[in-house]
Amino acid sequence: MAQQQAIADVVGIGAGPSNLGLAAAVHERNKAGYPSLSMAVLERKPAFAWHPGMLLDGATMQIAFLKDLVTLRNPRSPFSFLSYLEARGRLVDFINHQTFFPTRVEFTDYLGWVAESVDASISYGTTVTAVERLDGSGTPDGARWLVRFSGPDGDGELRARSVVVATGLRERLPEWAATGPRLFHNHRLLEHLAAADLDPAAPHRFLVVGGGQSAAEVAQHLHRSYPEAVVECAFNSYGFQPADDSPYANKVFDPAAVDDFFDAEDDVRAELMARHATTNYGCVDLELINELYAVEYQEKVTGNRRLLMRPVTEVRAAAPSNTGVRVELHDRMSERTTTAEYTAVVCATGFRSIGVSDVVSDWGVAPERIRVGRDYRLTIDGEPVPGLYVQGATEATHGLGSTLLSNVAVRAGEILDGLVADTSLTTIAKGA
Ligand SMILES: Cc1cc2nc3c(=O)[nH]c(=O)nc-3n(C[C@H](O)[C@H](O)[C@H](O)COP(=O)(O)OP(=O)(O)OC[C@H]3O[C@@H](n4cnc5c(N)ncnc54)[C@H](O)[C@@H]3O)c2cc1C
Repeated sequence: MAQQQAIADVVGIGAGPSNLGLAAAVHERNKAGYPSLSMAVLERKPAFAWHPGMLLDGATMQIAFLKDLVTLRNPRSPFSFLSYLEARGRLVDFINHQTFFPTRVEFTDYLGWVAESVDASISYGTTVTAVERLDGSGTPDGARWLVRFSGPDGDGELRARSVVVATGLRERLPEWAATGPRLFHNHRLLEHLAAADLDPAAPHRFLVVGGGQSAAEVAQHLHRSYPEAVVECAFNSYGFQPADDSPYANKVFDPAAVDDFFDAEDDVRAELMARHATTNYGCVDLELINELYAVEYQEKVTGNRRLLMRPVTEVRAAAPSNTGVRVELHDRMSERTTTAEYTAVVCATGFRSIGVSDVVSDWGVAPERIRVGRDYRLTIDGEPVPGLYVQGATEATHGLGSTLLSNVAVRAGEILDGLVADTSLTTIAKGA
């Protein structure tokens, strides 16, 4: 049975960093004495978590803590990483640590602290199933959207003046990957390893497919967690390629780069995306590359080889076997194809943004007609759709920072400006 309908000025879909950044901006504005905006966030996970399947011991952030949810928008925000450290009583300890790159465990705790501290109401275990446009703007409460969800108490609906979709990423899997308990995407690594309950003292054999940061992190994790296991890494390049985090290249993530990318001609934008791909894609932190190399080298010295690289190698087929997974591997240089048995295969094969594809699937609008404007409002055939914003799935138009944390703070401020400038919302919020 549908739950009673309520109305919110803003409904956020997804309680990841993007909508938490917006919730922080809304909170600050409300506390500054402006007409209050109510925000409800619907999140399908049962409790706050940030990529929990990859919360590996010691894994660090790929971005400076100063690019938290707020600082680039408002360095005095009470929701900064520094405010979090102070609240947790670790400010001076963190300073002594002398790093810009906290662990993902600590950053997750920061994000959870923000989720608990903002005045937006966050409903967990609640999956949005559809977003429907209400007819006309003449509804008595000013609602323009009906957000349908499935929650812990069954199906429900929420009326909204505006909706901000920030549903994050979906796992990208190769065609040969029929996933199961022993063949899975790295995004669910810890969950699958826990379920497999593998004996750490047994001589397992793992295959990690992919050449990016996640692949390298997974290889290191498996190598450390299963001291008798052999870990093999299959990837397209000749060796792990370092991530370019040098200062000039890093400028592709600057807030100002969004205008540059958005305004550029399509061919220029595409060229820049390709030239700067190794700031984020198919690349690994140099420090981690060096750590893996040192391990492999030491194993060559001792003769106890457990970390093995299979460069320029593609997987052609994989099927469940009695012991795990049987895999056909093709070395593209020697053109030799071999078959091997693995305890488990981890596909660290990347992601794609979900965007609005799930929530607007019932609209009957061809995907090529849907875009996102510079102000993050959805457009259909170039016409902005009032009160529907998208965070994250804008890499093709807004640049490489779209799926990352780099621009969360500034983007939240821009979306808030849009929400406030929106005539009907302002009118309602002022009680006129
Ligand atoms: C392992 C890993 C490490 C990363 N490390 C970094 C890093 O160090 N620096 C960096 O800049 N970026 C990093 N990223 C990129 C990452 O995408 C961003 O950091 C960030 O998570 C993006 O935030 P988001 O809110 O847009 O999306 P997400 O964090 O993916 O959040 C989206 C949320 O929406 C929810 N959701 C989806 N569909 C629905 C629905 N229908 N109904 C309700 N809820 C829904 C999901 O459960 C999820 O909680 C990393 C990504 C991964 C996978």
